[in-house]
Amino acid sequence: MVSTRRTTKAPSSSSRPSSPSPPPASPRGRKRTPSASTILRSRTKKNGEEEDIPISTKETKNHQKHGYEFGGPIGAICITILLPLTCYFLVFACNETTGCDLIESIIGLAKEKKKNSFSLLMIPEKMTPVFSLESCVLFLGWIGWCVMLHALLPASIVKEGVDITSGESGGEKARFRLRYKLNGFRVFMTTAVACAVGTYFGQIQLRSLHAKFLSLLTAGCAFAFALTTFLYVASFRVNKNDKSKKKKKKTRKNDGIDNGPVVLANGGNTGNVAYDWFIGRELNPRFSNSLFDAKVFCELTPGLIGWLLLNFGFMHEQYARLGFITKPMVLVNAFQLMYVVDALWNEPAILTTMDVTTDGFGFMLVFGDLVWVPFTYSLQCRYILENNVDISLAMTAFIVIVQATGYYVFRQSNGQKNTFRTNPNDPSVRHLKSLKTKRGTNLLISGWWGVARHVNYFGDWLMAWAWCLPCGFDHIAPYFYVVYFGVLLVHRDLRDGEQCELKYGNDWKRYCEIVRFRIIPYVY
Ligand code: NDP
Repeated sequence: MVSTRRTTKAPSSSSRPSSPSPPPASPRGRKRTPSASTILRSRTKKNGEEEDIPISTKETKNHQKHGYEFGGPIGAICITILLPLTCYFLVFACNETTGCDLIESIIGLAKEKKKNSFSLLMIPEKMTPVFSLESCVLFLGWIGWCVMLHALLPASIVKEGVDITSGESGGEKARFRLRYKLNGFRVFMTTAVACAVGTYFGQIQLRSLHAKFLSLLTAGCAFAFALTTFLYVASFRVNKNDKSKKKKKKTRKNDGIDNGPVVLANGGNTGNVAYDWFIGRELNPRFSNSLFDAKVFCELTPGLIGWLLLNFGFMHEQYARLGFITKPMVLVNAFQLMYVVDALWNEPAILTTMDVTTDGFGFMLVFGDLVWVPFTYSLQCRYILENNVDISLAMTAFIVIVQATGYYVFRQSNGQKNTFRTNPNDPSVRHLKSLKTKRGTNLLISGWWGVARHVNYFGDWLMAWAWCLPCGFDHIAPYFYVVYFGVLLVHRDLRDGEQCELKYGNDWKRYCEIVRFRIIPYVY
């Protein structure tokens, strides 16, 4: 069933949501002992098939330091507690019963007459119970459905999309490329068809997701804690594998699939249980030498498609209640559908992201992918349903313009950089000015990347506004996303700037002098 279409280089134009917290700042803290050798993998032809093989080299002197980020173990524990609490808070504080007044009261905007008309402990009447076995089965069934489709549907096998640098693995550092099976868009299309057919024949009631929202959230949280713990414990198999690998001087191989050495993430290998559990000890967990990559799968498939299902569930519920669907509901559903389809269509782009190449698969990403994205990014649709929001035609037109502008900036800028990086002689980028660097990869100083260093973030943020504006201005709660995402992007820009300074040195400083604005031209 698997077709082996080879791609040249994964594009870097991803639009994927990432970890719930802003990415970490530059590594600092404890040093690790440099390892003895570096495994590089080069390409060779064997039986007519090109494959990766390891080459031992001397350890580079420039070995990486790594240590605590996110405030270390205490910070990791606090974030671990805060993330699920925030998800519950958004449900308890903003629903049909409380009318979202709690958030207003917290920032001091609550109207006098409405004070004390809510309680943090008030479970939304239409969303009971908080825990149900049925929802646990449903959540597990959803993950199982995605895994099954991922395994059965045809896929592209991307073999050269990413070059991963690991932390120490049994005393060795490793640079290698993995092969990935990418069929997220097909999983999405199959799920969409199944839902449409199921709904038509009355077998699937997407609207029931609204009533189950809270118990599904509980199931998601429990699953995230369990999966993270499993991944953490399983990561210790690395040492055994590496010991036997050292003796046999072999890489893992089975059924022609070579997943490369099992390696640990630089940041998640500090020895502190709480911290490593949070960041993720293993870089790219894979089991049974299959092409199933747990992290890439979770980054794109169950969370993103699950988010859309919740959105559609809220739209279905609105139709059942009102007999029609309101403009805001259509807008938010359409915009977010477009965003997810864009991410799934450009699936190989995920392989060059920091999430895949650098961060371990720990609670931060597990929770972010499987719980944070679907249960907080769907807040606008839920808000529109529960607050009966409607907007004028003029406002609708304005929001469509904001979304279209945001998407245009986002897609064009990401596309321009990707074309420049993959084929600088392409007619669409050949005329652009660039700065020659000692590192060898030039930096664009005209076109989109000449107006701001991360103008692609600006496009993404504009879209975030277009998702929130349909909710009207009665409450601040649905604007949670635009605030959270703004913080994430500013932090991400700072982090990328630090990394580019490390990569490019003085050339980056020159680039920053030429392109002065970070994200929003002439503003920031
Ligand atoms: P970017 O696509 O912004 O890539 C940054 C890299 O591009 C730099 O490290 C550098 O790498 C290269 N680069 C920087 N400046 C230039 C230049 N002038 N010319 C050429 N190359 C340059 O990184 P992200 O992965 O952070 O973002 C990708 C997209 O994903 C964005 O649109 C973002 O908004 C979106 N996103 C969405 C999230 C969500 O939750 N919805 C979360 C995170 C991101 P090098 O030089 O080594 O090639």
